Amino acid sequence: MTEVSTKTLSLQEIRKLAKSVLVASGMDDSSSELIAEIVTKSERDGPHSHGLRMLPVYVQSFSSGYANPTASPKVERIAPGVLRGDGDNGYYQIAASLALDELVAMARENGIAAFTCANCHHLAGLRFDTEPLAEAGLVALGVVNSLSMVVPQGGVRPVFGTNPMSFACPREGAEPVVWDQASSMVALMDIRMAAAEGHDLPRPAGLDTDGQPSTDPNAILETRSLLPFGEHKGAAIAFLVEILGAALAGGTLSVDNVDREAHGALNIKGGSTLIAIDPARFGNAAFNDYVQRVCAEIEGNGAARIPGDGRLKQRAKSEAEGVRVSTELLSQLDELL
Ligand code: NDP
Repeated sequence: MTEVSTKTLSLQEIRKLAKSVLVASGMDDSSSELIAEIVTKSERDGPHSHGLRMLPVYVQSFSSGYANPTASPKVERIAPGVLRGDGDNGYYQIAASLALDELVAMARENGIAAFTCANCHHLAGLRFDTEPLAEAGLVALGVVNSLSMVVPQGGVRPVFGTNPMSFACPREGAEPVVWDQASSMVALMDIRMAAAEGHDLPRPAGLDTDGQPSTDPNAILETRSLLPFGEHKGAAIAFLVEILGAALAGGTLSVDNVDREAHGALNIKGGSTLIAIDPARFGNAAFNDYVQRVCAEIEGNGAARIPGDGRLKQRAKSEAEGVRVSTELLSQLDELL
């Protein structure tokens, strides 16, 4: 692997840099603040593939006309438990910021509520959508579909996006349990990052030009045919995300999401759904004990760990020591100011 020159930045410095780049690209103060926060959290928690490295991608999506830097999203309550959003072709997180308080209130009122959003570009990890709900005492499930690049088991062409999903639940006396994963064996950004850093992937994550499973990130980027995790089981989860994400929200199915190519853009316009559940309304007064019991059975069980603990460790380290950022990336970002 090539040695990469880096500089350590504090989280505050990362936030400031990200915001400046976004403002320079045409976003207003409050929208750029929201997106800079997502970039900062991605750098803080890792993996860094969705952090500062994505800023040139975001800027390009504005300059090509693919995404709207001055979006004015709308959120409307269309049923007792359903909030429907239209992102005005901007970033999902801006629409979601308008929906969050109402979604929490609706879940507390009804026991369960959902926010769907179409006409939006979802950025970075889905844990940033589910974690705040679990911090508010709710169970949360978030999904977003994307652009077809995952081949169904036994298939010869991509049907699904990398279709991530995140689940979060509160855990008494501790941080919420939050897991967050793509339906592909490896997230696309991690394949790109491996290609940029010049190393192979730890396991076959896509098909090469001969249709064979490969660990070579460049070969996989050429075919853009990624493998689902867990063979047919991951493909089934990717199917679920198409339906809960695109179909419920009225977003574009991953197979139909070709607009991006015309703009040479790299972020993705999918449909998303965020479901919030209030366990206090489900009639099991011992809900928290059940969570504790399952977690206790995982912890101290050989090398097993609670999903999300890796993120929490990385978060504590970044808060204490800052984050190492490639100097090449910093120069690239400088040019965008
Ligand atoms: P990973 O495979 O790295 O991790 C998946 C989950 O498993 C994490 O919650 C991780 O938590 C947990 N985990 C990892 N190792 C273990 C272990 N040994 N024991 C228990 N739990 C473990 O994630 P992916 O590569 O699949 O996903 C990458 C990211 O890309 C996600 O954040 C996803 O939301 C995002 N994404 C976003 C898209 C978008 O359009 N916005 C599109 C596609 C992906 P931990 O923190 O503890 O390691």
